[in-house]
Amino acid sequence: MERPLRERVPPKNASRRPGLAVAPGPEPSQTGLMITDPGFTPGPELIRKLPKTDLHLHLDGSLRLSTLLELARERKVELPSWTEEGLLELVFKESYRSLPEYLEGFRFTTAVLQDKEAMERTAYELALDNQAEGVRYIEVRFAPQLHIHTDFTAQEVLLSVDRGLRRAMEECNARPAVREGREPPFRYGIIVCALRFFTAGFSSLFRHFILAHKFSEPQRVFALASLELARMTTAFLEEHPEVPIVGIDLAGKEKGYPARDHWEAFQHAHQRFLGKTVHAGEAYGPESIFQAITELHADRIGHGTWLLDPSKVTNPEILDPEAYVQNLVRFIADRRITMEICLTSNLQTSPTIPSLEAHPFKKMLDNKLSTTFCTDNRLVSRTTVTQEISKAVKAFGIDVRRLRNLLVYGFKRSFFPGPYTEKRAYVRQVIDYFDQVVEEYEEGRGGKKKQKNTGRDQGGSK
Ligand SMILES: [Zn+2]
Repeated sequence: MERPLRERVPPKNASRRPGLAVAPGPEPSQTGLMITDPGFTPGPELIRKLPKTDLHLHLDGSLRLSTLLELARERKVELPSWTEEGLLELVFKESYRSLPEYLEGFRFTTAVLQDKEAMERTAYELALDNQAEGVRYIEVRFAPQLHIHTDFTAQEVLLSVDRGLRRAMEECNARPAVREGREPPFRYGIIVCALRFFTAGFSSLFRHFILAHKFSEPQRVFALASLELARMTTAFLEEHPEVPIVGIDLAGKEKGYPARDHWEAFQHAHQRFLGKTVHAGEAYGPESIFQAITELHADRIGHGTWLLDPSKVTNPEILDPEAYVQNLVRFIADRRITMEICLTSNLQTSPTIPSLEAHPFKKMLDNKLSTTFCTDNRLVSRTTVTQEISKAVKAFGIDVRRLRNLLVYGFKRSFFPGPYTEKRAYVRQVIDYFDQVVEEYEEGRGGKKKQKNTGRDQGGSK
């Protein structure tokens, strides 16, 4: 039997829980962005320097290729090729025929991530790679149950990922520019993923889990595994409040595996103030997104690609899909539920999107939804945050002022692991730094006489 919540959440934790991310309050930024041409479209060189986030970033999809090869060799994991070129040709492609082909690569990456050293190293390198392109805040997600086995406990899995990320953070923040407050520090959070669906082949833990629930319906087994993950996570946090596990996610096959099956797990997380994000509207329609928000309390949605598409509504009880989508958009916009946009990944897994320009992100922008650019999988999608933003800026004609708002959403809608006051101060610092980088860039370009722009509409907000 569970103890009451009061006893389970130690007061010292209370201020660092991430539910604070959605607290209302005045916008922290209304500075004058000193630029000669607020309408200019930034290129990759400038984008690289700007402070950025990645809130949707799978650890097991974002290994360095060289590290995957090295770990596989050491751990005697079979790969279809032993060269980087070979793997890029056979597994981690520019484009994929289908989602199953996209997912194929994870078989190899999870196979090498079965011990402390591998988890710590890949987490460390992932943070370094982000830092190298000016990303200041990341939320790294992975499914612990794909890594746990007899010789690798849940505790060790979580601690080793944290060790890697922490080491990279401390190294970065020891630089004089950060210590002296001239640049915002690097911060991170960890998100644990529950899976909508799994088979015995997914991992040792899942094999045992399925065996142990032989007489339960598969749907019930998936739900129980999620609940176990949620309980494991909160129990871990009671012992290790210093580890910034800031949220829970639901990933995996969407169609046929509804979010509501995982209600109990998300309710458990919700009552303990963990952030909630759900992969939804990627392979399925608007109702799936609505369900994630209303039944799993999602603060953010992974992808949300088909949010604005009435033709993707399949529930026969919804008689007017157009009106349903309009209401849903209003509902989401009002609550600032944030869409984690992974453009390259979507193009790779959704053959029905013919080009980047045709991606529904355009409609999300037009509807003033809260969105943030993410990579999903740096290796599997062969991308970086800078690349994602550069592509979007070009395809959708996003000017620097609008980009400022979009990049700031990432910081604001993060499940930042600290008190809300600290988060606000961080966002403030990020906004000032953004302005400074743009101004310096403008000066470098031989910018014209500057005009202080004080319009309320450009305050990196909402
Ligand atoms: Zn994802």
